[in-house]
Amino acid sequence: VSSVEATQAHLDRIAAVDGDIHAFLHVNQGALDAARSIDERRASGEELHELAGVPLAVKDVLVTTDMPSTSASKILEGYMSPYDATVVAKSREAGLVPLGKTNMDEFAMGSSTEFSAYGPTHNPWDLDRIPGGSGGGSAAAVAAFEAPLALGSDTGGSIRQPAHVTGTVGVKPTYGGVSRYGSIALASSLDQVGPVSRTVLDSALLHDVIGGHDPHDATSLTTEWPSFAAAAREGASGEVLKGLKVGLVKELHGFSKGVDDSFQSAVKKLEAAGAEVVEISAPHFKYATAAYYLILPAEASSNLAKFDSVRFGLRADVPGTVEDVMSATRDAGFGPEVKRRIILGTYALSAGYYDAYYGSAQKVRTLIQQDFANAFAQVDVIATPAAPTTAFKLGEKLDDPLAMYANDLATIPANLAGIPGITLPSGLSAEDGLPVGIQFLAPIYEDARLYRVSAALE
Ligand code: GLN
Repeated sequence: VSSVEATQAHLDRIAAVDGDIHAFLHVNQGALDAARSIDERRASGEELHELAGVPLAVKDVLVTTDMPSTSASKILEGYMSPYDATVVAKSREAGLVPLGKTNMDEFAMGSSTEFSAYGPTHNPWDLDRIPGGSGGGSAAAVAAFEAPLALGSDTGGSIRQPAHVTGTVGVKPTYGGVSRYGSIALASSLDQVGPVSRTVLDSALLHDVIGGHDPHDATSLTTEWPSFAAAAREGASGEVLKGLKVGLVKELHGFSKGVDDSFQSAVKKLEAAGAEVVEISAPHFKYATAAYYLILPAEASSNLAKFDSVRFGLRADVPGTVEDVMSATRDAGFGPEVKRRIILGTYALSAGYYDAYYGSAQKVRTLIQQDFANAFAQVDVIATPAAPTTAFKLGEKLDDPLAMYANDLATIPANLAGIPGITLPSGLSAEDGLPVGIQFLAPIYEDARLYRVSAALE
């Protein structure tokens, strides 16, 4: 198929189903033109990338010059960026065709996409259920065949948990492996951009495109990365599972029966293919969620200070001083979860409380990194269920922040340690027939190992 055909097919699919799903905040009016130019270049004999001409959905946290970038917030409604995020620029260079911007929790804070200022996304498997979050739009678009590939961002699980509840594949690369330039910052020490797809190989191909050093991002690694697509292809035969040491974390509890049963059956498959399953201990995981919900708000409150009614987006039309305008703008522009975290973060960082909250959380972060170092001295990868339950009902946890935060218990440790993680489907829950994902974690820099192992299980 030509790129124009593929792009048109996805635009048609969006027109047919997105009224119900609401995965997109914006559809790219220039998509067909971009597709046509790829077809012309190919017809003229130009050697193009394997993904050239393939449509790509882009999470609205990533800035784009030709489409608004709002991070699903009212404070950035209609905001046009003067530059493309590096991952978007690299995708365009490889010939991928941006299809549109996908819905998310406002500023990527949430686990259900219900905190979007533009209304929730619905899970294509059951429209009454959440598609996960914060990147529910990207995952739902891929699950509903509105896009073959998508970009997401993962600060505490926002790529991997939506993948789990939508039956898709999502990858959080090693911290610094993919540029954060042009990714509207949530928590800079935790944020990573990564791929969402229906197969492991597709994520690997996209990761190859978006990864690598970027001088615009001070935390970008200069590592020479192997080809992730080659790793996925190598893994596909299943040979790599022979003798592979897979760690199961003794201290991770609290998964529903449907999720746990699916996980256990995936572990049996790994063993049947020759993997050796080992129990490991990560005694500090139980503090990970608490530490994360101090570090994240602290960093987020600082990152969101730039929305001051002067430099970006919304400005409230009220009389008074600069401070009056700023405070009216932030009151009108930020939603409830964002306000909650700004208050939490400024409190945790305030004089007299800094050591007790932020300081302790940073110590826990170091202990979790040590838990991983100890574990990876014994095993090649760690396997966990990706999240406590299958997709829950829209509205179910909206008024209970702690229940919402508890969704992230299996995904957060990887962000705190900077290590790579992947979620891929492990089947459907016998309880409710909804998708379940298994998560693999590997040591820092070992993203290729995740693709090899996941492709073998897939
Ligand atoms: N659910 C987590 C949170 O609300 C994850 C967010 C993310 O990864 N962007 O912070």
